[in-house]
Amino acid sequence: MELDISQRFIFDNTDIRGELVRCTDSFEQLIQNHDYPEVAKNLLGEFLVATVLLSTTMKFEGRLSLQASSKGEIPFIVMECDSNREVRGIAQVRDNFIQGDFNALLAQGTLAITIEPTNGKPYQGIVPLEGKNLAECLSQYFIQSEQLPTHFNFAIGTDKGRQTAAAMILQQMPMHKISDTDTRAENWNRLTQLANTLTDEELLSVEYETLLYRLYHQDPLKIFNPKIVQYRCTCSRKRTQEALRTIDRNELKAILKEEGAVTLNCQFCHKEYSFNADDIANL
Ligand SMILES: [Zn+2]
Repeated sequence: MELDISQRFIFDNTDIRGELVRCTDSFEQLIQNHDYPEVAKNLLGEFLVATVLLSTTMKFEGRLSLQASSKGEIPFIVMECDSNREVRGIAQVRDNFIQGDFNALLAQGTLAITIEPTNGKPYQGIVPLEGKNLAECLSQYFIQSEQLPTHFNFAIGTDKGRQTAAAMILQQMPMHKISDTDTRAENWNRLTQLANTLTDEELLSVEYETLLYRLYHQDPLKIFNPKIVQYRCTCSRKRTQEALRTIDRNELKAILKEEGAVTLNCQFCHKEYSFNADDIANL
C-alpha cells in the first residue's frame, strides 16, 4: 500500500520553509460512502491537503479545522486534522446542484480556521472567501493573521489511476538568517516564481526528492523525515451516547416505541450506532 505522505523542507540560506503533501488513500476514504458531485470532491481534496499543510504550522498538540460557510452551491464544508495528521471532513451540497467555479460553490462565503490545542484555549481566525480560489483565500488569511507571506499550489487529479489530492506550501518565516529586507523579498519572489512553474502532473505524481531537485537544484535545502497522513474518524459509541443525552428523553422513548432502537449515523463516516431500551435507560 502506498502511504499518504507529508514532507517538510527548508531552504538553507533563506528564512523560507516548505511542505509537500499528497493524499490518495485518505482522499478516497474521505469521499467514499458519500454521493458527492465531481466539483465537490475536488474541493474536498483541496481542503484535505490544505488542512494537513496548515496543521504543520501548529506548534503544539491539538486539532486544526478549516471550515467554509457560504450561500453558494456548497453551503458548508469542513476538514479536520490533528497533530498526528489524522484527517476527516465532509461537505454539504445543495439538492439542485449546478456546476460552478470556486466563487459559485462558495458564494458570499467565509473561511474559518480553528485551532484547538489539547491543553489550552481554542483560537479562530476568519477571512471572507473573496479570492478566486482556495490558495488566494489562504494566502490572504496568513497576511491578515500572521503577516507571513505564504504561497500555495494545489492539484487534484489521479496518480497511478487513483484519485489524488496534492499541495505545496512555501512560507516566509520571521527574520532569522537573512536580515536584509531586499534580499528577503528577492528570495521570496524567486522561490515562489519557481513554485508557479510546477505542473499538476508533477505535484500529483513525481517523487518528492526529484520534484524538489527539478524546482530548486540551485537552492540548497534540507529535507526532513516524511510524516504519514491517515483518514480517521473521531466518532465513537461513547461520543454518540453523550450526544443522545442532550435529546429530550420522551422523544427518545417515542422513537424506541416506534422503531425498537434509536439509531444514529456519524455524519462524517456514516458509521451506525444503535441504542436499545436498556441503553437509553442507562444514559
Ligand atoms: Zn465517524
